[in-house]
This record gives sequence, C-alpha cells and structure tokens, in this order.
Amino acid sequence: MKPPPFEYVRPGSLPEALDALARHGATGRILAGGQSLVPMMNLRLVKPAVLIDINRVPGLAEIRVDGGELVIGALARHAALLGSALVRKHCPLMADAYRWVGHGPIRNRGTLGGNISHADPASEMPAVLAACDATIGVRSAKQSRTIPAAGFFTGALATALAEGEMVTEIRVPLAQPGQGAAWEEAANRKGDFAMAGVGVLVTVAGGKCTHAAIGVAGMAKPGTRLSATEKRLVGTALDAAAIAAAARAAREEVRPSTSYHADATYKRELVETLAARALAAARDRAR
Ligand SMILES: Cc1cc2nc3c(=O)[nH]c(=O)nc-3n(C[C@H](O)[C@H](O)[C@H](O)COP(=O)(O)OP(=O)(O)OC[C@H]3O[C@@H](n4cnc5c(N)ncnc54)[C@H](O)[C@@H]3O)c2cc1C
Repeated sequence: MKPPPFEYVRPGSLPEALDALARHGATGRILAGGQSLVPMMNLRLVKPAVLIDINRVPGLAEIRVDGGELVIGALARHAALLGSALVRKHCPLMADAYRWVGHGPIRNRGTLGGNISHADPASEMPAVLAACDATIGVRSAKQSRTIPAAGFFTGALATALAEGEMVTEIRVPLAQPGQGAAWEEAANRKGDFAMAGVGVLVTVAGGKCTHAAIGVAGMAKPGTRLSATEKRLVGTALDAAAIAAAARAAREEVRPSTSYHADATYKRELVETLAARALAAARDRAR
C-alpha cells in the first residue's frame, strides 16, 4: 500500500522546521518516526500535501537532567528511552511502561514527541506523562509555550497543539525518595496497543500514602487521570483493603471506549485487576 503523493522537505535546523510549519499551515505535517503517520497516509486517513521531516534537526533527541526535571527531546526514540539509565532512575514509571510499547522495529523509529502528538488513547505514554505531572514544551515560528500533560490531550487523536506548533521537549519532575511506580497492562498480544493499561505513582511517608497519581490507557481519552480514586488513597496505609477499595473505585471512574477485542464491561474489569496489581507493586517499590 502506498501513500498519496506529497511534497517532502527536510529542514536542517529548528528555525527552518518552524518556518516550514508556518509556511505550509494545515497542509503540512511533521514526519518524526513515521510509525503512525505513514500507515495513516497509506490508509488515506490523512493526506498531507507536505511532509516536514525533522529527523535531521540537531539537538531534538537529547535525554538529560536539568535541575529538578528529566528533559526528553521530542525526537528521542522509544528504544533509546527504554534503554536509558536516566529514565530508569528518574522516571521509573516511564521505564516500566515502555516494556509494553510496540515491537523492536517500531521502537527503533518511533519517537516520544510523535507518540504524544498522535495522541492514541491506547498509547501508554500519554497516561505516564499525565500521572507524572509532566509538561510539554511547544514551539512555533512566533512563540514558545509549556502545556501541562493533562491538558495537552484533548480527545482521541486530538491535542492542544495549534496550527504551526510542534512539540520540542517533554519535562518530567524527577522521582523522589519514598516514591514507587508501576505500570500494568493487558494487550491482546505482547507489543500490541493496550486494551487497558494502568500506571501508578505513590509516595509513602511514615507508613501512609501522601501522594497518589493514576493514569490509564485504552479508555476514551488519552492521558486520563483518575483523580477521585487518587484522593481515596491519600492517608491510607496502602494495605490490601485500601488497594481493593481503590481498584473498585478505578473501575467506576474510568470512561472506557469499546474495541473489537474488549467491550466497556470487560475494560472496567481489566482496570480493577490492573489497578490492584499496579498499586501493590508501586507500594512495595516505595518502601
Ligand atoms: C504495529 C505497531 C504497534 C504499535 N504499538 C504501540 C504501542 O503498543 N504503544 C504505543 O504507544 N504506540 C504504539 N505504536 C505507535 C508508535 O508508538 C508510534 O511510533 C507513535 O505513535 C508515533 O510516533 P512517531 O515518531 O512514529 O510519529 P509519526 O508517525 O512520524 O507522527 C505521528 C503524528 O504526530 C505528528 N508529529 C510527530 N512529531 C511531532 C512533533 N515533534 N510535534 C508535533 N507533531 C508531531 C505527525 O505530524 C503525525 O501527525 C505502534 C505502531 C505500530 C505500527
């Protein structure tokens, strides 16, 4: 299957890429790893007139620590993030979730910036970034701004990016002592998109939970947090009863989409089971 005809430009710097985006407006699309865009073009779901290939833009693939944040360039590949010692140390939830993302060839090309810009509700990273209170750095030819991850995802395959804007970096607060993280997922086959995925971050101090964040994948909207369930957990000892109650609450709080492999009732059941597992694992890691 081949894509419809398109023009191809390959900027050599960020200002050139932003100029090209401004010039081509809604008819231009950024090409990063191509792992979502090219299949969508082949299926005629999108027909951009111009592809703006950012793969030669220098400095966009860095993974580094800056003050209290892990900074990930938009072009950082899934494989680089999966193998990164910095990610394992400073954002263990991302490291845990990356084990579930795609297959080797997809991880070698796919990028974090492309993944979140595509905003697939079944994707792991929107949920991870929302749970971590990450921020998304965005640039256009005219301005730069920062969008909280929870506000970046506005719906299935929809983001807060305006015309002419691109993601340049993702900033994640560094994991703190007393924090535990875990990602649990059910997919039809390993490497497939999630039917349901649950990511948990908890902070434990003096035997009590002082902070809880839960992000879910495979539901109606990408990057969804379960704030009511999170509130129930704070102040508990994260014992078996508290975890079971929270898992039941998570089941009620999610807004599942339906798919060929999983209807809404089944997804709710998955969320309860996965939330209980992720909460117990995160609690054990926090100790
Ligand atoms: C078989 C298969 C299995 C997969 N399994 C999973 C999985 O389990 N979990 C998962 O999360 N993903 C999965 N993916 C998707 C994969 O993660 C993609 O790499 C990702 O969704 C898109 O990233 P990309 O770099 O390839 O972006 P592209 O395909 O190049 O672009 C995707 C979209 O984002 C836009 N874009 C790209 N970069 C930017 C930017 N910096 N700023 C603004 N817009 C930008 C593009 O214009 C396009 O609209 C799978 C893909 C395939 C083909």
